Amino acid sequence: MTRTAALVFAAIILAVILLPSAVVSLGRPFPRPGDETIGRDEKPPEDEQVESLLISLFRADTREVVTIDLEEYLVGVVLAEMPASFGPEALKAQAVIARTYTLHRVRFFGGGGCQRSPTPADICSDSTHCQAWVVPAVTAAQWYSPDEMDLYLAKVRRAVRETAGEVAVYQGRLIEAVYHSTCGGRTEASHAIWSGGEIPYLQSIACPYCGHSPYFRRETLVGFEQLTSALQLEPVLPVAGNASLPLQVAEETPGGRVGVLKVDRVLITGKDLRRLLGLLSTAFQWEVRENGLLFLTRGHGHGVGLCQYGADGMAAQGKTYRQIVSFYYPGTTLSTFTP
Ligand SMILES: [Zn+2]
Ligand SMILES: [Zn+2]
Repeated sequence: MTRTAALVFAAIILAVILLPSAVVSLGRPFPRPGDETIGRDEKPPEDEQVESLLISLFRADTREVVTIDLEEYLVGVVLAEMPASFGPEALKAQAVIARTYTLHRVRFFGGGGCQRSPTPADICSDSTHCQAWVVPAVTAAQWYSPDEMDLYLAKVRRAVRETAGEVAVYQGRLIEAVYHSTCGGRTEASHAIWSGGEIPYLQSIACPYCGHSPYFRRETLVGFEQLTSALQLEPVLPVAGNASLPLQVAEETPGGRVGVLKVDRVLITGKDLRRLLGLLSTAFQWEVRENGLLFLTRGHGHGVGLCQYGADGMAAQGKTYRQIVSFYYPGTTLSTFTP
């Protein structure tokens, strides 16, 4: 039995005996309230080796389940999920958040795994389901010039290595580390998007850091015909320029997004309309134009948790990855995961 296999075996025994359903940290517990073992700004000792962990990944591209070292997996996630041109501290924040997101799903620690995989797996590489992942060397060669490729790969690897084992926790438990591209000035509260009640660290907060995002403000013109067929209604929309357009916001979310819309007498959620029309976010307003509706969107993505362009903006202002994580997930702390 290799050392890793022995560690995993010992970990399984401990997990089964001691903590069957809780999030488990072996070797070093996650801090509990009042536990000062690892505080917000405390770093693990320099000489401490962080052991990694093997996870099962369902590759959406090859449709096979592979076993991969967690830290190596994270290199492919950070490369896929965030532009490698972003500031080093933003990449480090992304590494911490992606690690937390992953461990929260690992079945061994009580996570639900990925339901899309035909055989049991912890997580998949489909960004619309779990978290994007790419083969680092292959993808970097496709996306970047030879010079950039080496530079960016090294940068991403450094971000993962320099945060090795670090995760975000709230009251001793791994957080729901959701993230998105650009909030557009204000993040969204999780309960406005998903069921399950309010989560203290996923409330709507003002974000003054993502104004440089190409998605900060966008315009999308949707023709009346396309709008009508998307809504699968009889043509209820008036002709161009009609001021009595029967479209109004029925419910706004805590983050100032469209919760529910009323189209004539039909209710539709902002989320559904976004999906049907391919809008970048549910933070939108519209203007009547001659040939359709001009949707003015703010941001890109669901808007909950870390705003990636905001993280880049914070990094550019000299903020550390710890400050970035703590800004987007208020009340959380960082802890070191040791398998
Ligand atoms: Zn999945
Ligand atoms: Zn933002």
